[in-house]
Amino acid sequence: MMGERAVTREMIADALREAGIRAGESLAVHSSLKSLGFVEGGAEAAICALQDVLTPEGTLMMPTHTYSLPMWGKEPYNKTKSPSLVGKITDVFWRMPDVLRSDHPSHSVAAWGKRAEEFTKDTLPYPPIGLNSAWHRFYSAGGRILMLGTNQGTNTSLHLCEVLADVPYLNVVFTPGRDYEVAHRINERGEVKEFILRQVPGCSRGFRKCEPYLRESNVLKDVIVVNAQSQLLDISSLVEVMVRKLKEDPGFILCEIPDCGICQRRRRII
Ligand SMILES: [Zn+2]
Repeated sequence: MMGERAVTREMIADALREAGIRAGESLAVHSSLKSLGFVEGGAEAAICALQDVLTPEGTLMMPTHTYSLPMWGKEPYNKTKSPSLVGKITDVFWRMPDVLRSDHPSHSVAAWGKRAEEFTKDTLPYPPIGLNSAWHRFYSAGGRILMLGTNQGTNTSLHLCEVLADVPYLNVVFTPGRDYEVAHRINERGEVKEFILRQVPGCSRGFRKCEPYLRESNVLKDVIVVNAQSQLLDISSLVEVMVRKLKEDPGFILCEIPDCGICQRRRRII
């Protein structure tokens, strides 16, 4: 990026409109701040640009996952304190005014705008990305997904496709011999509560395998946002095409990495 001029909020907003983002829509964003180049005002400017384009009539949603499982050495999830572990933009977003954050101790989301409350409220006790989760509500609302400088490797909605396709491995979790994991969170009274996680979202290292298929099916559109190579998808089309594919080939998005315990055990029961 040496010698390139700084990227401004206005430049990002113009590029988002050029890429097809519209006022009033529900947009879920997975992001890489670095991919935009040097942004004047940092993550906050990028978020403001998204809000400028969507307007308060639209809704902006982002994952703010914390993976708060004791077995991974994580602190209990505190929705007013725990940093998001999925990128700088997401970690700045949930702290901004008028942004709501869900209670989920492993896969929380944050949202701003017209449907923010609908997507984030009362997401416990549902599975993190299953029926009635924030992502399922976002799907029911007919939203679109922007992978801003990122790719299908970070597309949380592919886990929703696994659930809706009812793949046979949904109950195979990280711990061998169990069908659930334990997460922990701090509730409104400051007490640490255990939370039984079912339909645990597994490994996503195989997710990029679906990119050629999603392009051929006209579900994935490659777009550029300033310097960021990005992808835009309609979640209804994504679910339709991926559920069909996963019913034919349930192992399609499991990874091939030899030391990946969960994918190996998941593949064995197909
Ligand atoms: Zn894997």
